[in-house]
Amino acid sequence: MPLERSPRELLQGQLAATLPHAPDLVLVTDLDGTLLGGSDPWRRRLYGWLQAERQRVLHVFCTGRDLASVARLLREERELGLGSPHLVIGDVGSTVACGHTLEPLPLATDPIEARWAGLPERLLPLLARIPGIAAQPVTAQRRLAYLIDPAELDHDQLAEIEAHGVDCLVSDNRYLDVLPAGVNKGSTLLDLLDWLEVDHARVVTAGDTLNDLAMFETGLQSVMVGNAEAALLAALPRLPRTYRARGHGCEGIVEGLHHFGFGHLFEAVF
Ligand SMILES: [Mg+2]
Repeated sequence: MPLERSPRELLQGQLAATLPHAPDLVLVTDLDGTLLGGSDPWRRRLYGWLQAERQRVLHVFCTGRDLASVARLLREERELGLGSPHLVIGDVGSTVACGHTLEPLPLATDPIEARWAGLPERLLPLLARIPGIAAQPVTAQRRLAYLIDPAELDHDQLAEIEAHGVDCLVSDNRYLDVLPAGVNKGSTLLDLLDWLEVDHARVVTAGDTLNDLAMFETGLQSVMVGNAEAALLAALPRLPRTYRARGHGCEGIVEGLHHFGFGHLFEAVF
């Protein structure tokens, strides 16, 4: 009888490239305002370091963007040296993909798909009647994505939508995501870390807006970058493992890594 494969082996089997076996650091970064934030010199430095340290630093994008948008971004930012991560958590936690091919990983996405089944058909007509929201032109998977007009949106109407078994997440006072209840950047990240059998002491997350709050609420070491939105900053007192950086974007990420004791990984680079 063949031995049953572990989730780590199953996940590795669904990836096009081998993950570092025992990384010194698992760096989980939001994109807009975080890994894409900060000055160009800081961005170049951090992107170059991530590429040079691929065997020691397992890098995960954790973003509200869909996979098509991540692919576009990787093309656009190549000039600054941004390379593919090892893994991508996209669609605000409802998609997990190989960083190299951007192919979704069934091990992670199938259970979310099952929780999402039937919900769009039920919710789309209800959401269409809510003033102050407009569908985003994205190919969102296992979620619905809208732009909001904060002056017009009545949050009580979102509470009625949530009664159907979804979470309504407003971020950056601009974006509304409707996700299967309990699915977010934090829940998907914790599942992924379990499958990868990663020691949580080696993990640092970073973000700047409210859809990153679920990552910070996991209790993992986290960096709130200096340009974080006010609503996220307001949550800081109840996030004991979250470091508030002064630096914006990439500079803030590096500052946070030093704070959490990963400065030795930079050697002479920073
Ligand atoms: Mg962001």
